[in-house]
This record gives sequence, C-alpha cells and structure tokens, in this order.
Amino acid sequence: MDRRVFLKNSAAGALALALAPGSVRAASLGRSSVSGDFSKAAPVAGTYDVVVCGGGPAGFIAATASARHGAKTALIERYGFLGGMATMGYVAPISEFAFNGERVIGGIPWEFVKRLEDMGGAFVEWPKGNVDFDIELYKLCAQRLVLEAGVDLYMHSSLIACETEGNRICRVIIENKNGLESLQAGRFIDATGDGDLAWLAGVPMQTDGGGELQPSSFCFVLSGVDTDSELMQRYMYHSGKKGSSECKPIREKLLTLKAKGADLPDFGGPWFNSVMHKGSVAVNITRASADSTDNRDFTSAELRLREDIFKFTGALRKIAPEFKDCYVSSTAPQAGIRESRRILGVHTVTADEYVSGMKYEDSISRGAHQIDMHASKGSGQVLVKLQQAAYVPYRALIAGDFPNLLVAGRCISADRKALASLRVQASCMSLGQAAGVAAAQSLKEGRAVQDIDTGVLVQTLRNLGALI
Ligand SMILES: Cc1cc2nc3c(=O)[nH]c(=O)nc-3n(C[C@H](O)[C@H](O)[C@H](O)COP(=O)(O)OP(=O)(O)OC[C@H]3O[C@@H](n4cnc5c(N)ncnc54)[C@H](O)[C@@H]3O)c2cc1C
Repeated sequence: MDRRVFLKNSAAGALALALAPGSVRAASLGRSSVSGDFSKAAPVAGTYDVVVCGGGPAGFIAATASARHGAKTALIERYGFLGGMATMGYVAPISEFAFNGERVIGGIPWEFVKRLEDMGGAFVEWPKGNVDFDIELYKLCAQRLVLEAGVDLYMHSSLIACETEGNRICRVIIENKNGLESLQAGRFIDATGDGDLAWLAGVPMQTDGGGELQPSSFCFVLSGVDTDSELMQRYMYHSGKKGSSECKPIREKLLTLKAKGADLPDFGGPWFNSVMHKGSVAVNITRASADSTDNRDFTSAELRLREDIFKFTGALRKIAPEFKDCYVSSTAPQAGIRESRRILGVHTVTADEYVSGMKYEDSISRGAHQIDMHASKGSGQVLVKLQQAAYVPYRALIAGDFPNLLVAGRCISADRKALASLRVQASCMSLGQAAGVAAAQSLKEGRAVQDIDTGVLVQTLRNLGALI
C-alpha cells in the first residue's frame, strides 16, 4: 500500500529536501503530505508497542498504564519535563477527583496524587478532591512514575510528522537536537492536548483553528504575598465553600480601577492558587483569545499577555495590602490553552449526556468538575453544575477509521460544553489511564482499536481502581 508522510508545513521543507526533489505531493494549510523513502532523513530511533505523544496529565498516565500492561512504551514530550499544563502552564489545582465528597476517579491518577502527597508535594482539598501541588515536585513525581513503569522517554522532542499506510500510522517523526528521528509502533496515543498526531494523520477534527475558542491565560507565580492574611486563606483554596472560587473582593477593586481609566485589559477571576509555599501564589488572571495551533496568533497573544502580567501585578500592589510587596518570581513556560482541536470520534460526548451523568456500556472514565466555559472575549464565565459525576465512553477516544490510534485528554471527541468540564486535569488523567490500557489490550488481542472487547477493558480498569 502507498505510504505517505504527513507533516506540519514548517517541517515540509526539511523533509522534502531530504527526499527526492519534487516529492512533495500535496499541500494544504498547515498540513502537507510527502511520498518517498524518508528513513535516511529520519532514522528509526526505536520500535515500540505503544508510542504516546505528549507528556501532560493524560500522556504520562497513559504511558504508565500502557507499560504496566505489558506494552513496550515510549513517551514523546517537547519540553524537558512532564506534567503538561500543570507544570508548563502553572495551572492549579488538579481538579477534581470527587463529586459530593465521594471520590470518582481512581487507579493510577489517584496513585500519583498519593505519591506526590507522600513527597510533600500535594495537598488534597475535600469534599471536591481538588489537589494543590508543588510544581517542581510534580515534575519529579511524574518522571519517577513513568520511569519505574519502564517507559522510554524522548524529551525535548517535538512530534512534527507521521507516516501512514492507508489510515494506519506506521511511525511518528520527531525533531530534537539529534535532528529528525522516527519511532515505530503498533499503537499510538495522541495526548498532545491539541490533537497534533490525529490531525497529522488526517482524522476529521471538530475544531480546526477557526471558530470560537475559550481564551488562553498566561499564569505566573507571585511571591512576597501575605498568604497568611484572611483574604488569601479564604480564596487560595477551592473546596468546601459556597459559590465561585474567584477572588471577588480583588475582582471588584480591579473593575473599579479599570472603570476609573486604569490601563488594564480584560481579565478572568482572578484566581489565586496555592503552590504550597508561604508567600507565593500561582495567579490566573490574564486572558486573550488565541488559536494555539497557529504559531503567529499564539505568539502575538503570549507576548501581549506577558505585558499584561506586569500590568496586573502593578495594580495588585496598589489596590490590596496583601500584595503590596509582591513581585513576579516566575512566569509559566508558556501561556495556558483551554481549547483547541478535538477529534470527531466514533461517539461525541455532549453536554447533556455529561451533565446528566449518563452511563454508557463502554464507560471508561469519569469527571466531577462543573462545566466551566470562559468567554472568548471579555471577562465572562459560564458555570453549569453536574447533576451527577459524569462518564466518558471508550468510543470518544477513537476515530472510526483509524485502526491504531487513540486519543486522550482534552483532544477527545466532545462538544464544546462537555469539553469545558472534562478538560480538567483529573479527568484527563483518567482518560489517559483508559487509553493506555486499551492500547496494550488492542495489541494483545491483535485487534484494531475499534474492535477490542470493551467488557474486558472496563473490567481491567476497574481492577486498577477506576470507579466506572
Ligand atoms: C488557564 C487555565 C486554567 C485551568 N484551570 C484548571 C484548573 O483549575 N484545574 C484543572 O484541573 N485544570 C485546569 N485547566 C485545564 C487543564 O490544565 C488542561 O485541560 C489539561 O492539562 C489538559 O491535559 P492534557 O494532558 O490533555 O494536555 P496538556 O496538559 O496540554 O499536555 C499536553 C502535553 O503534550 C505536549 N505536546 C504538545 N504538542 C506536542 C508535540 N507536537 N510534540 C511533543 N509534545 C507535545 C505538551 O508539551 C504537553 O506536555 C486549566 C487550563 C488553563 C489553560
């Protein structure tokens, strides 16, 4: 069968040059296809049962689950640490493991939290099961978890292309300081958040850059804050209180300042999150509408948001005694992304299904967080409480026609409103666990991911501790 290499346009030049001249066969906005023998241009660095792309909450849990279920597993991550938005976006807390005080997410995600807690790097808030964490200990705990499971890590490596035979992915091409390399595998899991691998492979996507998206926010750590003050003690923790966790008193003061003509952009919250160190808080306040899958759009949004971080810090110093001596001790490695591409899977989870707690025959994951939709423009946010803890079916992790690809995390098949809940980290970890186990099972059964015995999958996940 004809083999094709799908790659981002940015990489098309490099690969096309390494191939026979004139071998670029088709081009579309952002995605190109090339035919030819590229094995010299991107030598095979490893052959695996399962390759996971992206080392965020979904990806590092997926890789651990896959390796523990007997699959030789590799994990590709473009940064030099694991954790995704938790550690590259300073997004805290990990929300939410429990619904009405009852834990609904278990297995490897919960094991991770307990390990981090034992290291002194996590604090679980009940009854919601939100988890505050130390960003640096999170990175350490995640890498220990995957390495102990026997996963091979390809860090500082960006996925830039994949080779397909029909709809079967044969290998992925990564770019790092060694140049171009490729990894072969029987099964692939896309946990890039943006659905990069699925998109490269040609899976139909629900959002492909255009349309309305939730805004990006550039989070940062402020130090020199009076975290012992009544205000901060009341608002730094996000469980067990009525109403929103946004810091309303500061919000009102900022809005007044803005109304008086202060040079302040639109903002969200603000939310002040514990980083488990006295005097420091992670701040979520900035926002900008941006398409994270478009380099120019995302760059310009991020540059503007960096300016905004310092505008808000100056304003906080002025309006609140708790912040009078504060300073920006660290900005996240990148601005946080709430929403981008999602696959059009065999089943698309809808908000109605999600909010009502609808169960499926192939339920493999849970979610407990309310629907939390930030307005793409302005300062608005819509919250909808779940009637019961939600379920996600296995069919939302696979596309109809792609026999060896699963997705996990915020790029699964869900409508915008359902995504606005299931995008939180505990749910993404739970989805990663299911994808990792399913990938290993599909190899053992010798069946396409669409044809595995979902009864066996559900039972394996239950045995692991998943509360499905
Ligand atoms: C501002 C903000 C506030 C939020 N607040 C909360 C909150 O309070 N609680 C909560 O639980 N969740 C919150 N979320 C949501 C949550 O953080 C994310 O939705 C969640 O982390 C998604 O997990 P993921 O594993 O799917 O993707 P990500 O966390 O995005 O991880 C994807 C990983 O893949 C890597 N990657 C991407 N592309 C490539 C590539 N081409 N090659 C190699 N590696 C790649 C990335 O570097 C990253 O490590 C918030 C998000 C934002 C942006």
